[in-house]
Amino acid sequence: MGKSMKSPVVNKAMELLRQLRQITEGQDDVTAKLNKIIMMIVQQTDADAGACYLVVDDCYLELFAAYGYPEDLSHKISFRIGQGIIGIVAQNQCSLALSDVSKHPAYSPMPEIKEDEYRTFIGVPLIRWNRTIGVIALQNKKKHTYSPADKEILETISMVLSEIVASDEMSAYKESLIRERGQTGRERYKGLSLSKGYGMGCAVVHRRRQAVTKLFADDKEKELRKLENAHKKMNADLDEKFNTTKIGIGEHVDILDAYRMFAQDKGWYKKIADNVQSGLTAEAAAERAYEDMWNRLSGTNDAYLKERLHDLRDITDRLLGYLSGDNKTSASVDSDDIIVVAMSMGPADLMDYDYKKIRGLIIEDGTPTMHVAIVAKALGIPVVAKIKGIFNDIKTGELLAIDGNEGYVYNKPSVQIQEKIKAKIAEKEKLQAKLAELRKLPSKTKDGTKINLFINVGLLFDLDYIETTNCEGIGLYRTEIPFMSSDQMPDVNKQMEYYKELMDRSGNKKVVFRSLDVGSDKLLPYWSNAGEDNPAIGWRSIRITLDRRAILRKQMRAFLRAAAGKELNVMFPMIANYAEFIEAKETLLLELEKEKRRGSPTPKKVNVGLMIEVPSVIFQLDAILKQADFISIGTNDLAQFIFASDRGNPRLTERYDVLSAPFLKVMQEIITKATKAGVYCSVCGEMAGNPIEALALIGLGYRNLSMSGSAFGKVKSMVRSLNIVDIEDYVKTLMKSNKKTLRPQLISYANDHGIEIY
Ligand code: PEP
Ligand code: MG
Repeated sequence: MGKSMKSPVVNKAMELLRQLRQITEGQDDVTAKLNKIIMMIVQQTDADAGACYLVVDDCYLELFAAYGYPEDLSHKISFRIGQGIIGIVAQNQCSLALSDVSKHPAYSPMPEIKEDEYRTFIGVPLIRWNRTIGVIALQNKKKHTYSPADKEILETISMVLSEIVASDEMSAYKESLIRERGQTGRERYKGLSLSKGYGMGCAVVHRRRQAVTKLFADDKEKELRKLENAHKKMNADLDEKFNTTKIGIGEHVDILDAYRMFAQDKGWYKKIADNVQSGLTAEAAAERAYEDMWNRLSGTNDAYLKERLHDLRDITDRLLGYLSGDNKTSASVDSDDIIVVAMSMGPADLMDYDYKKIRGLIIEDGTPTMHVAIVAKALGIPVVAKIKGIFNDIKTGELLAIDGNEGYVYNKPSVQIQEKIKAKIAEKEKLQAKLAELRKLPSKTKDGTKINLFINVGLLFDLDYIETTNCEGIGLYRTEIPFMSSDQMPDVNKQMEYYKELMDRSGNKKVVFRSLDVGSDKLLPYWSNAGEDNPAIGWRSIRITLDRRAILRKQMRAFLRAAAGKELNVMFPMIANYAEFIEAKETLLLELEKEKRRGSPTPKKVNVGLMIEVPSVIFQLDAILKQADFISIGTNDLAQFIFASDRGNPRLTERYDVLSAPFLKVMQEIITKATKAGVYCSVCGEMAGNPIEALALIGLGYRNLSMSGSAFGKVKSMVRSLNIVDIEDYVKTLMKSNKKTLRPQLISYANDHGIEIY
């Protein structure tokens, strides 16, 4: 096609791109290039002024370049993402053209640049890897209408500009700015966000299971002195703490006394000293003393001795802290706001702290679906993980700020950062209050379709969400948590107590119990995994409980007794084929028969279901649906197996998206078959708790979603702002796309249709 054949719009776009290329290929530094580009855009369009804002500190947009305004305010103006019209463009990742900007509810003109003299506005986000990295904005003094073609040209320019903004040179420049402002690189860490939210507080370094790296001593005498000093200091500190703390009376006093006696035990000290004499460092000697004791006592059934073993582990860890010179422990931090920093952590470890005081959790070795992260998320605690070296860098007592939305941790944050984080916390509290108001309103779409929303429960405090959310019930009860947090396998009665408490607290609401799902990332303290190469596809979950049938039978008995006189719903995780499901189902039905024969009271109805997590089962769905009363989709595991992508590997988290055709097609297949067979179907993986993903699920036909209690309000708010007919059509069309992710399209759709996705 000859040049003359092109439309004026195309010619204009090509001219702009030509000039853009000239500037980008020039010799100027990155800031000069940015200024030239903004000047060129203003001159080549009909605008009177223009500006480029870039994201710094991940929650702020700062003016980096401007042209046409009466004063140069580069680096002097900033907005929070979501604040003002510029902030809204960044947050929604959507261009915005306003012929009269003063009519917009977020309008707040900047007097410094006489912004009230400008009427028309167009803002376009700069996006890279689905994240906003900046905004370009143009303004006109006279009323002017930007056409869709103008918008398109600016969006094309923004793509090129995004490359410059994301360049190494610009990143280095931004880092240098941050450093100049007193926030050095070392004090700011980038990690992987595992749970969103903001927090500030005193660091508490979680020292359990501290690794001993130096095994052999160079100088025995020196090592013995080190041991003696650490032991003395530890006991002196313990004495002082126990003497000055008002601990009242009760069982905990006996426990503390026993703990203190243990710490002073001469036999234990001698054992460590002997180990040092044999050539070990004091640290390795203490660890060896623990291992010896563990080898002797771990097989015992004596609960008292087991408890002592638990104490010894704690005291060994405490002593290791003193030996390493960092003897401040969580107890020595006198603050109502703490941020726990751990190398790794189990869900039970979180219970060592008063969770109401935890403002954030940093886990150096954390992975997205590790259970401590799921528990923290349920408690609304922001979590950031995968920051190499942070565990050793941070000292207990230091002030930390955490940005769980973008995965940043600030050590000794500047006043500026502190203010930003405080503002974010206040904003979140306001949102929470708004979501709480939804409690009494029905979970219905705008066009009247009921969407049943349930909560996932792991720990008993999750049960508070039954009342605060007013949910339909518990769509997934992860029974392994009580198994993981006690130090021996709970017997039928103990299990029954847990399950009964759960049923009682739920009143008449539906409860779905999942049979024990351990292995892979969920290890039991008393049951080490056999060092498998691929634990996620190894001996785990239903594979263990079918092989160790007594465990499964006992759990079924506990379920049946806890639900006597009520409806019992039991589902089996990780079922890979029809035969496995039938085997598990028969185990439950056999226990039911036995209970009846014993004359014990039984549930008035028993529903048996399975989780859809292993792809093979989808190919036998027709047969399985004839045998199952319900199915529930565990999208965390299903996605990991569909994409062959380890759910715990942070390198892969952004590679595959459940919001893409392959996964959505699988989800469509399942709901279509279940609906046809008339079998109840729900989703209980993390996908159901993310508003934009839940939107796609509803579009596919899902009407039952179960999520963590903390996600409930956001999903309900999305449901109530949605028209179901439109989204069903849209998702069907979208699934024809071969894009790597359909997330941006769904976000734009939600923004354009007023669907609330916080
Ligand atoms: C899942 O796999 O989606 C699920 C709900 O189970 P869990 O996360 O406990 O493995
Ligand atoms: Mg699972």
